Amino acid sequence: MTVLVVATGNPGKVKEIEPYLEGLGWELQLKPPELEMEETGTTFRENAAQKATQVAIATGHWAIADDSGLEVAALDGRPGIYSARYAESDQARIAKLLGELGDSSDRRAQFVCAIALSKPDGSIALLTQGICPGEILTAPRGGGGFGYDPIFYVPEKGLTFSEMPLEMKQEISHRGRAFQALLPQLKSIRGLQV
Ligand code: IMP
Repeated sequence: MTVLVVATGNPGKVKEIEPYLEGLGWELQLKPPELEMEETGTTFRENAAQKATQVAIATGHWAIADDSGLEVAALDGRPGIYSARYAESDQARIAKLLGELGDSSDRRAQFVCAIALSKPDGSIALLTQGICPGEILTAPRGGGGFGYDPIFYVPEKGLTFSEMPLEMKQEISHRGRAFQALLPQLKSIRGLQV
């Protein structure tokens, strides 16, 4: 089977990415933990492509990477591509975001996820992006998920990402939408491999 390296070290993401890729005929491997990835792009797409390319070249295999984050309207789109680097821990990131937003009545936000697939030579074979609109609550709700999930409320479902069963989050999330766009192409590329 052709190896596909999942280029992330974030356990929350691994848990969400793997179910989409299982059963497609790729042999999934996790990125070696010692392999650091640089993110110097100015967009989610650029960062996803950078990470996939770096891991593909370092391992000599196909690689898939996601770059994602939360854009808050009242904060001019912040933390955006800096969502992971916004503070030291999930708890600190949530506290900082709620503090910056204060009692602003504009709670609109969206999660964005770009996914890139790199060939073993580092060239990008596929690049997709998914968006999930929602609102930022004033306090966390729910125990599941990771990152900013407890404060991200999806009006359509009446739940935060943290309160949703994983299958529901997978169906409507930014990552789910990016994967839904990517999967048919990923299957056809797989079909061309021996
Ligand atoms: P990066 O893509 O590794 O740069 O990190 C993206 C960051 O955005 C994560 O560390 C989380 O803080 C946040 N994030 C991305 N996707 C999600 C999600 O589905 N739920 C909650 N937080 C997320």
